[in-house]
Amino acid sequence: MTSHVRVRFAPSPTGKLHIGGARTAIYNWAFARANHGTFILRIDDTDPTRSTAENTQVILRAMRWLGLDWDEGPEVGGDFGPYAQTERLDLYREAAERLLAEGRAYPCFCTPEQLEADREAARARKDPFQGYQRRCRDIDPAEARRRMDAGEPYTIRIKVPADRGDVVINDAVHGRVVFDAKELDDFVIFRSDGTPTYNFATVVDDAMMGITHVIRGDDHLSNTPRQVMVYEALGAPVPTFAHISMILGADGKKLSKRHGATSVEEYRDAGYLSDAFVNYLSLLGWSLDGETTIIPRDVLASQFSLERISKNPATFDPAKLDWMNAEYINAMSDGAFVDEILIPQLAAAGKEVSRASHTDAWWSLLASIVRPRTKMPADAAQVAAPIFASAKTLAYDEKSVAKGLAKEGMARVLDATRVALGTLSADDWKAEHIDAALEPLPDALDLKKRIVFQAVRVAECGNMVSPPLGETMQLIGRDDCLARIDRALTMAL
Ligand code: GLU
Repeated sequence: MTSHVRVRFAPSPTGKLHIGGARTAIYNWAFARANHGTFILRIDDTDPTRSTAENTQVILRAMRWLGLDWDEGPEVGGDFGPYAQTERLDLYREAAERLLAEGRAYPCFCTPEQLEADREAARARKDPFQGYQRRCRDIDPAEARRRMDAGEPYTIRIKVPADRGDVVINDAVHGRVVFDAKELDDFVIFRSDGTPTYNFATVVDDAMMGITHVIRGDDHLSNTPRQVMVYEALGAPVPTFAHISMILGADGKKLSKRHGATSVEEYRDAGYLSDAFVNYLSLLGWSLDGETTIIPRDVLASQFSLERISKNPATFDPAKLDWMNAEYINAMSDGAFVDEILIPQLAAAGKEVSRASHTDAWWSLLASIVRPRTKMPADAAQVAAPIFASAKTLAYDEKSVAKGLAKEGMARVLDATRVALGTLSADDWKAEHIDAALEPLPDALDLKKRIVFQAVRVAECGNMVSPPLGETMQLIGRDDCLARIDRALTMAL
């Protein structure tokens, strides 16, 4: 059952979806879901010089990748559309006409020069009110209509009631915020070119779409008293506002390009998991209980509340995001890890492997040793690479060879290893038997464990940082393991 809660995320398609916007979207989505409400996506594309259809597509794609499904909006429709502001221009025009007819707005014929001169004069006399001097407010409506019809350029201004007083909002995050009546001017709701201003179009939409809660960045807090004036003029109920804090970089400055990747798609392309990314962003200014960090999507969607949004700015910490991503990867099932990370990452690294090329048990064993060593998806391909190589194609890391293999006595180690492994049949080729066969070697050769196993490791994997030897060798297979030792013998001394 849906409740009356209706929220919207209203990006301007003037660029990609960034971290801050994504967090706003997540909060709106989670709030709608937690309250069995409706989540609306609206494209605020009234800035024609900076909005592009391509950016809209990028935003929609990013929203889908984030898993933030919208109930009304582009591509899904809904009863309150259209959901792009450029398709709603007639509605804004009608709303403005209605306010004009009701005397709640008026046309202003002041020229830019006049306005500038008035502002200059107000500054000169140190007038605390620096807004519009209301020159056109009292023009007789019939006279105003005549001038409009005659083609004189005009803007439309809202008529703030003379006795309005301070504007008080009870922000769900900031609490009671008071805006001084003296600061309210009769601001423009329609420009002379016939386009609505942001503060007007947004409120017409929010009112017509029945938005109950406006959750957005606190850079919009200063717009709110003006928007309240529009609600009141329209005779529409004022929604609950929740202005969320800024996101800062580690240096305490507002998050920007200087801090590294900022667009959602850059994170997707870098291999972050959508669930981990959403979890991390959800905690930039909100908490479940002040301590839980791993918050699965369904918990977020059932437990999110405005009460637990913090007033303080949040700091974006890439290391914490990486940690969280690794946690999510580590929690994946074997099957999901193989299908969603391992095989695609191998393909991206140029190694096409099909699931059918090995048994499920083989893949599970592989997942169990690669997954804990995977912080970022691309790590998986790197860690697993030696297993998908062959004695002929295995790449030997020069430094590892110099350190672990090309040293006096290592040929003797490999010879002994070959003999020990040779005793195992193909059927016995299991990690536990391999480990058991290798175990006595250091004592028998009177060498340190580390030296012996390092040599075997470099021989089998080409480097010194592979996953546990027994499992790795089981996965490589008996014949190829022995062939690798033969090849390594040509490098050992
Ligand atoms: N289009 C506005 C923005 O991207 C939305 C503001 C609002 O949520 O009211 O900042």
